This record gives sequence, structure tokens and C-alpha cells, in this order.
Amino acid sequence: MSCDLPVGRIARAPILHCPPDLPLSEAAALMCRAHCSFILVMEGDRALGIWTEHDALKVDFCDADALRLPVAAVMSSPVKTIPSDLPLREITTRFQHDCVRHYLVVAEDGTAHGIVSQSDVVLHQGIEEYLWLREVQSTLRGQPLKLSGDTTLSAATQAMHQSGCDAAVVTGADGTPGILTERDVVRCVAEHRGDCPIAALASRPLLTVRAQESLYQARNLLVERRIRHLGVIDDGGAIVGLLGLADILASIERGYLGELKEALRDRDRALDWSRKQLQLAERVIESTLEGIIITDAQGRIQSVNPAFTRLTGYSAEEAIGKSPSLFSSGRHSPDFYRALWETIRTEGHWHGEIWNRRKDGVVYLEQLTITAIRDDSGAITHYTGLFRDITERKEHEEHIRRLAYHDALTGLPNRLLFNDRLSLALAHAHRSGQRLALIFVDLDRFKKINDTLGHNAGDLLLQKVAQRFKQCLREDDTVARLSGDEFIIMLPEVSDITEPVKAARRVIDALGAPLQAGGHEITVTCSIGISIYPEDGTTADVLLKHADTAMYRAKDLGRNRYQLYTAAQNARSFERLAMEKSLRDAIERDELVLHFQALVDLAGGRTAGAEALLRWQHPDLGLAAPAQFIQLAEETGLIVPIRAWVVRKVCEQIRAWQAADLAAVPVAVNLSARQLREQEPAAEIEQILLESGVDPELVCFEVSESALLQEAEDANAIVRALHRIGCRIAVDNFGAGYASVRQLKRLPIARLKIDRSLLRDITTSPDEAAIVQAMIGLAHQLSLTVVAEGIELEEQRSLLRDLGCDEVQGYLLGLPVPGDAFAQTHLQPPPSPRPHRA
Ligand code: C2E
Ligand code: MG
Repeated sequence: MSCDLPVGRIARAPILHCPPDLPLSEAAALMCRAHCSFILVMEGDRALGIWTEHDALKVDFCDADALRLPVAAVMSSPVKTIPSDLPLREITTRFQHDCVRHYLVVAEDGTAHGIVSQSDVVLHQGIEEYLWLREVQSTLRGQPLKLSGDTTLSAATQAMHQSGCDAAVVTGADGTPGILTERDVVRCVAEHRGDCPIAALASRPLLTVRAQESLYQARNLLVERRIRHLGVIDDGGAIVGLLGLADILASIERGYLGELKEALRDRDRALDWSRKQLQLAERVIESTLEGIIITDAQGRIQSVNPAFTRLTGYSAEEAIGKSPSLFSSGRHSPDFYRALWETIRTEGHWHGEIWNRRKDGVVYLEQLTITAIRDDSGAITHYTGLFRDITERKEHEEHIRRLAYHDALTGLPNRLLFNDRLSLALAHAHRSGQRLALIFVDLDRFKKINDTLGHNAGDLLLQKVAQRFKQCLREDDTVARLSGDEFIIMLPEVSDITEPVKAARRVIDALGAPLQAGGHEITVTCSIGISIYPEDGTTADVLLKHADTAMYRAKDLGRNRYQLYTAAQNARSFERLAMEKSLRDAIERDELVLHFQALVDLAGGRTAGAEALLRWQHPDLGLAAPAQFIQLAEETGLIVPIRAWVVRKVCEQIRAWQAADLAAVPVAVNLSARQLREQEPAAEIEQILLESGVDPELVCFEVSESALLQEAEDANAIVRALHRIGCRIAVDNFGAGYASVRQLKRLPIARLKIDRSLLRDITTSPDEAAIVQAMIGLAHQLSLTVVAEGIELEEQRSLLRDLGCDEVQGYLLGLPVPGDAFAQTHLQPPPSPRPHRA
């Protein structure tokens, strides 16, 4: 039942009115004619009072003068007014409260707008649904007023007035019921009927409705018949009540009031509940240990809780209105924040750990949950941030982790952490095909130190030993304490066997100097066992066991030494280490020598140049060829000083030949792959050339095809740099690899030396000859001089001449020999001013 219609909309106008001095009967006559239930008594524009049908019950019909009284004498005054914008719903209850049946509806300026009666309200309430649900009998309030037909009008009106009834059932002599209503009484006033019996005044027949019928049907009957009362009959047809519009209105009021009361109770209950919820939420926010920030949709802080202040050091006043970037620690990249907001945008929240800064500048780690709060339309209105400081927890976790994974005495990783790292490193070594080494270290006679100097000194000693181990190892190496005086070292990514051997030596050397422990100066040695992945085992257990076995062998051999698990490796490592040392000494002791091999011009048969080839005059091994030591020199880095030595010697040799007045020929120097990778050699070479005063054109550099391929970028840069200095470049061992012609074209290369392997069978295999011929053709197209290497047979030479090759080199033309011998065989004095060839 709801109707918010303003009452002004149903107010009736024009208003039936009369002057105050109009006799009552005339006023009543006006009402009858107009079918109106009231008349407004007006003086000019002013409403003095109102006389209604109900007032007619108060007329004294025994007094004939009563009907002639001016209406002003009997009217009700003042007239109750209501504003025209009052909702219809509110007026329903007012009728009952004010005990009136009409209101004068006034506009905002006070002028009369119309009159509204109870009937108007019943007819306009929009209460059909409500009326449908209610039965007529629900409105009945006891038996109706029943009067017999011979009752006088004055007695009847008095009875009606006293009983508060606006109508009475009148039973006539024949028993048919009629009805006497206030409207009938008004008619009596208008017609001067006098105090007659009411049988003649009552309206007949009395229209009835059954008690079980709906109020809706009853109301419709009243409206259709333009009447205001219905008799209510029970199942037996007996009149059990009268139903008037006022009764319907009262019923609506009762229902409405009940509903209103219920609604109010509901509202109060809801308010009470939400107030309590709010209080609870407020208390939770106030008392929670977690910091809470609420921002608006733009991210400006709107409110914070006390925990926020406790955690950040900022008061609410300092934070409100600011952006949370106030707490930024600077530890996260813009990408971090971008990802954070993207998550909030797509998922509605973000949860994670973030470093923030307190007001005092201290950076702390907080666990933060940011949630976007949306309104009913889905638009973000706020963000809430819930956080707690987890720095301590993290530190605690870290501490526990350290305790779990580290040795308490030395702070080194313990067996657990070591095993973890070892299995990771093994997996990596397996994937990358690299070696890995385990070095098992056991202090010699540690038990004796412990027993004689005490455990305290023993502990201090272990700490110092651990420190020394750490100092002598690389960052990537792991040193762990397994137990007592046992340590284990892991070297990941070992390229050759000398690395763990050198590390073992460093460990032995690290303990060389005496240690201070507990006021004692102690010299301690250790025995070391080494195992290598994959040669000595592929699992952690096996490698550890083998390192341990090797360590015991070192102990058996007299302690203070290392042993590799595989005996052969021991020998090989020894050999290599011995070689490495002696090669190092060789440079100092001047054991290296250069031999020169001639390059002969095929057309004219004259010496076109020489290739410098390195030899090692080893005190025990005799004259060693490069194959025996160049790789070692490369692996140990000794190749760098060797290169400088060779270039210097070549320059010296050229100078010597020139000094001997011999024709200068270009001399080729070999550069290995490692030399191309290790260090930019051009600057150093340029310096040597400058110092020696040799024309750079007389020094040629041979770079093997494979080196060009392997070290493409560096090689290219170096080749270009050497070319800039003025030196010529030759590609050595061409054809052994797969260098692309395009690659050769890009580089400033002057010569191509065809590898010996391609020339071996040219005299017997036409295919091989064809390949060489094609190579020569291609090289000539690129304007390269072609040299054939390793020529031992005359047939090779003549065929190559036929194929158009430019120069040859090989035992046929001369073995590599020292500079003096080379000059004797291959160099002549410079040509006389006369042309050499006629
Ligand atoms: P390479 O540059 O290909 O040098 C030619 C090699 O072939 C030399 O071996 C030479 O003695 C050998 N040889 C010359 N003619 C014949 C022949 O007719 N038959 C046979 N079977 N061999 C012949 P060597 O002197 O033992 O040098 C070997 C390699 O060592 C050289 O190959 C070169 O790559 C490298 N090498 C030599 N000296 C140096 C140097 O000073 N520095 C660098 N980095 N490498 C060098
Ligand atoms: Mg060469």
C-alpha cells in the first residue's frame, strides 16, 4: 500500500461554500443539491469554519428554530488545513488523529486549493492490492446500530451521535431493513422534516455484501452505486454490520499503521545492527595490529589506523591527502609497481612483499594486500592497503635458514647445503658437458692439536683455517665443513685437470704460514684428495667417496700433499705441470728458437718469402716442434708473451738479413686462435715494428681458417687492425675448414695458403686437382695470392704451376731452418740496378 501522490492532486474544487449568516437548513439544501458532504463557511476569501454531514447529527430536531440558526453558529471552527504537497499516504493517519473527515487543502501561499475527504482518500489511495487481500468482516467493529422504524429522528440522530455511527440499520414494520445515514439527516435539515419517525426517512433496500467478500468488491459496489454504506450479512443472511467508506479507511489506516510500525521496527533493527557492525569494524580497525590505509580512487590517503602510525612513524595528519609513494624505499623498479597496479586492475587485489621506508628513514619489509573497492556500478571508489612489518620474521627465517645450512663454528656451508649445491652443480655440469672437481681436505694430526692445546684452541684454529680456505678460493667455489677437521671444496666448471691441482696447492700453501689460536702459534698441514666429474664418478656420493679415498692416499704418501683419485691423472697432471713450468722458464732461459721455411715463386723460382716456425730447444727433450707445446702455451696463456717474442725475433732476423745486405723477403708469423681471442695484439705488434724499424709490409701474419671461423668477430677486428698497421694477412690451412668465400671477401686478406691435406693426392686424383684448381680460380678472382703448402714432390710442383698457383712451400723447396742457414740457401744480395730479368 503505497501512494506518494500529493494530496493537492485529489483535492476537490470548486469548494461548496456559503456565507456565515445563511440559515442552517439552506446550507443543508445546498449540500444536498451538490451531493456534497460538507459546506465551507466563508467570509470573503477567509474560511471561517465548516459544517459537515456529521455535524447534522447534532441538530436538535425537536427545536424548530434550530434549522433557522445561521450556519456560523453550528459550524466547526477553525477548519483543519493541510498543505497541498502532503503525500496522500500521510493524510490517512491524520484523519483518525484529528477526528475529522475533511481537510481544507491550502497552497503554499495559504490560498484554498480544494477540499479532501475520507472518501477521496479511499478512492485514490492505490490500495487495490491491499483491498483484495482483506475480507469485509475484518473491518467490522461489533454489531451495527439497529433502530426500529418508529424511532424519532431526534432520538435516532442522538443514538448515532453517541455511538459514533455515521449510519444505522432501520428495521421497518415489514421487516425489510433500510438505512439511515448522516446524508439522510442532512436532507431532513434541508427539508424541515421535523422530529418524525425514521421509517419514512430511511433509504431502502439496504444493499448488502457478504462478510467473506473482499473489501475490493465492497468498495467497487459503493463506487458503482454512488452510495456510502453497505449492509454486511453473514452466511445466514443476517445483518451483522455496516460497512462505510470510513470503515475501509480505518482498515487501511490500521493496516498501514501496522505495516509502518513493522517497517519502523525493521529499520530500527537494521540500524541497530549496522551501527553495531560499524562499531565492531571501527574497533577492529582501531585495535588490529596490521596497518590499514584507505585511499580514494586517485590513490590519495583518506584514512589510516593507529597501527599504521606505529609501523610507519607517520601520524594520520601527516599521511592523509598524500600518496602512498611517501613510503617508497627506492628498492623496487618502476616495472615492479607497474606489474602491481596491473594485477590490481585485472584481479582486483595484490598480495606480496614490498620494501617500504619509515619516517625515520629505516627500510623495512612489509607484507601487503591492496584491494580495489568498487561501487554498485563496478567503478573503483577506494583502495585499501593492509600491511604488516615482516622484517623481523624474515630475519628470523634467514637466521634459522643459516643455522640449518651453515656450520655454527666456522660459518661455512654445512654438509646439507653442500649437498644441495653439489647436486645443482652436477646437473649443470651434465647439461653443459663441463667438468667439476671435488677437493677433500683433512687437517693432518688435528686430533693431537685438540688433545694437547684444548678444544678452545682447536675451535679457534678451525675458524682461522676456514678463513684461509675462503681467501684462497674463487667466488664461485664452495668450501664446506663436513665434520671435525674435514672440509670439502667444490670447483664448478673446471676446464682442465690443472685447475683443481692448482686449487689444492693454494690450499696447502694457505696453511703454510703458522696460525695464531688461543695464544699458541700453530703450524698445521693438510692432506687433499681430488675427484673429477665425470671421469671419477657421475654422482655426488661416488665423487665424495673417491675424493675421500684419494685423500687417504695422500695421507699414506706422507701427508701435506694432494692426490688425484685416478692414478693416471696424477701422472698426467704432473707432466702438464712440469711442462707448464718449464715452458715458462723456456722464455726466460731463451730456449725458444725460430726456424724459417721458404716460400718459392712458382713462375720465376725465386724466394718469395719465409714462414717463421717456432721451436723449443728443450734441455732434455731436444728440439720440440710446436705440436708438442703450442696447445699448452695457449691453455696457460703463455702464448701471449710467446707471440711478442716471435714478432720481435722475426724483426731482428729481417734486420740482420738487411744488415748482411741480403734481399729482404716478407716473413710470415703464425697467429693461433687463442692469440686472436686473448688480447688485442695489433697495438703491441705495431710497437715492436716501430721499435725495430722494420717495414710492416715485410711482416705477414698467418691466421688459420679455423681460427677465423671460431673467433669470427674478434678475428675480424684483429685482422683489420693488423692491416691498418700495414701488415699483410694470409689465411693459413685453407680448405681444411669451411670458411665462406663471403667471409674472406669482407676481410683485407692478401694471401691464401691451401692446406697440405688438400694437395697430398692432387697428382693421383683428378677430383682433388679439380678442387684445387677451382680454389685457385676463386682466390684469383678475389685478387689473392695463392700458396700451396707441404709440397714434397716435383709432380706436385709442376701440376700446381699448370693449375696457376702462385707460390709453393714444402720440404721440396726447403726445410724450416735457422735464419742463417735460410739466408745461405734462399737469400741473395739485392738485385743490381740492372733489371733482374731481361
Ligand atoms: P703451419 O702454419 O701450417 O706451418 C706449416 C707446418 O708444416 C710446419 O710445421 C712445417 O714444418 C710443416 N711443413 C712444411 N713443409 C712441409 C712438408 O712438405 N711436409 C710436411 N709434412 N710438413 C711440412 P711445424 O713447424 O711443426 O708447425 C706446425 C704448426 O705450428 C704451424 O702450422 C703453425 O700453425 C704452428 N706454429 C708454428 N710456429 C708458430 C708460432 O710462432 N706461433 C704460433 N701461434 N703457431 C706456430
Ligand atoms: Mg703457417
